[in-house]
Amino acid sequence: MTPIYLDNAATTPLHAEVLEAMLPFLRGNFGNPSAIHSVGRKARTAVERSRKAIANALNASTGEIFFTSSATEGNNMVLTCCIRDLEVEHLIVSPIEHHCVLHTAEHLAECGKIKLHLVAVDEVGRVVPESLEKKLSKIKGKTLVSIMNANNEIGTINDIKTIGAICKQYGAYLHSDTVQTFCHYPIDLQELDIDFMVGSAHKFHGPKGIGFLYINGDVKINPMILGGSQERNMRAGTENVPGIIGMGKAVEIAQANMLEEQTYILGLKKYMKQQLIEKFDGIKFNGDVDGNSLYTVLNTSFPPHPKNDMLLINLDIAGICASGGSACSSGVDAGSHVLNHLAVDTNRANVRFSFSKYNTQAEIDIVVEKLGEILG
Ligand code: PLP
Repeated sequence: MTPIYLDNAATTPLHAEVLEAMLPFLRGNFGNPSAIHSVGRKARTAVERSRKAIANALNASTGEIFFTSSATEGNNMVLTCCIRDLEVEHLIVSPIEHHCVLHTAEHLAECGKIKLHLVAVDEVGRVVPESLEKKLSKIKGKTLVSIMNANNEIGTINDIKTIGAICKQYGAYLHSDTVQTFCHYPIDLQELDIDFMVGSAHKFHGPKGIGFLYINGDVKINPMILGGSQERNMRAGTENVPGIIGMGKAVEIAQANMLEEQTYILGLKKYMKQQLIEKFDGIKFNGDVDGNSLYTVLNTSFPPHPKNDMLLINLDIAGICASGGSACSSGVDAGSHVLNHLAVDTNRANVRFSFSKYNTQAEIDIVVEKLGEILG
């Protein structure tokens, strides 16, 4: 039996057309894009087409897009290189960033490279703009603010336009981890005061191991990975050509179908929420479930029950893939730093269900029924 996959915030299945687009670059078109001969040039042309697809999606220029191995690498690079190259002395992050931002920030602070400040988030995990403004007004010295567009565990979306305007007012750089929003929502960088952002292909039906970093053309940082002139001297290492081609194709597909998919997936989320409310007394939802929240994420909170500890495992046995936290703790209820920060009741079972266009209402019916059996 094929499992019912409701862990799309962790990773998404590869789109069939993405695989088709990648295959030629795993077979005959194996050229190194840095080579000047015809085989290399073929790869180079395809790589640049993908760069253009990303730039178009963001209303940015191709010169502002750099391929990376992942969003994790991009996030590490922004924090590390801003401090090294832009004389940044202060770093402001939210306490519920993904660990690839949070742990990097903590490491840089422990090494004495920056002073780390945590901006306040409210009870649904949204950054409080007044808290950011208060911090920025007090800080003397160059500052980088790194705030995710949307939280991967609870789905809460931050008002990145307002955050950008505040950063601009105080002359701070703004970096945003847009892993959960890029290719799910329109992002127009001409409308936002953002200096850096990252995306990751496997969150929108592209391949794993490929992401990109946007660096605003007015800002100059130097590479983190050294030893080659790839990516216009910004990221050494032979490009992951099939990955880049796959990401470009996934971007094109996502951009062409975004509104339709949003409506469909939001319908699934609302349906599941309603079914759960009808079936489970005392069920609650973490995050801003009816407000500005990812349509792909429903973070549920089941009342105390003797079988709560085993819920994810029992769901897995029943052929249902869900998650207890972010991708990293996927399948292991390891105690999420996000839910801990929001002080959710640990006697309750907190399970993240996350959807894609490949899910159906019939699948949700099965999941709700199985949940009833497990917690019955
Ligand atoms: N940032 C967020 C918000 C994420 O959800 C993830 C993946 O779970 C990452 C960063 C890491 O992305 P990648 O898998 O490309 O390293």
